[in-house]
Amino acid sequence: MAAQRITAIYPGSFDPITNGHLDLIERGSKIFDELIVAVLRNPEKSPLFSLQERVEMLQEVVQHCPNVSVDTFDGLLVDYAVRRQARVILRGIRAVSDFENEMQMALMNRKLDPNLETVFMMPAVAYTFLSSRLVREVCQLGGDTRSLVPPQVEERLRSKAV
Ligand code: ADP
Repeated sequence: MAAQRITAIYPGSFDPITNGHLDLIERGSKIFDELIVAVLRNPEKSPLFSLQERVEMLQEVVQHCPNVSVDTFDGLLVDYAVRRQARVILRGIRAVSDFENEMQMALMNRKLDPNLETVFMMPAVAYTFLSSRLVREVCQLGGDTRSLVPPQVEERLRSKAV
């Protein structure tokens, strides 16, 4: 019997995508047949970048990964996974502080859909301190974000800061 293709979903806010996210996407693209980066449509949050801007930036920076696509979703992640025929949720763990929240989400998603597995990956050590929130703060205070985000994102951050 032929091996089944495995599609994974990497969900998040990506406001904006950082080098840490990109590191995880590249790692994920090597072990899954297809990886869908799914941006949560959350009208209650007030993001720095609009949904469209976040999707555009993601599309620009994943161009070198042919099995990676970008999409948006709302509602339950497990329902979206069924619609996209995905069996895996990919999430990143940077430090112990991520663990508790991620474990709760993974176990809740397993309760909602026992067929869906959450897979955790660790980024390169250099990215373990990196979060979109910190990048936004550094940018808003006039700091240099060049080593934190891909060049296309850095350009857009600079235009937000002025
Ligand atoms: P959320 O709002 O769901 O936390 P994020 O866009 O902040 O969305 O992150 C999406 C996923 O990427 C989460 O699993 C998060 O732990 C992971 N992540 C965020 N930053 C990094 C990083 N620097 N290295 C590895 N994983 C990360």
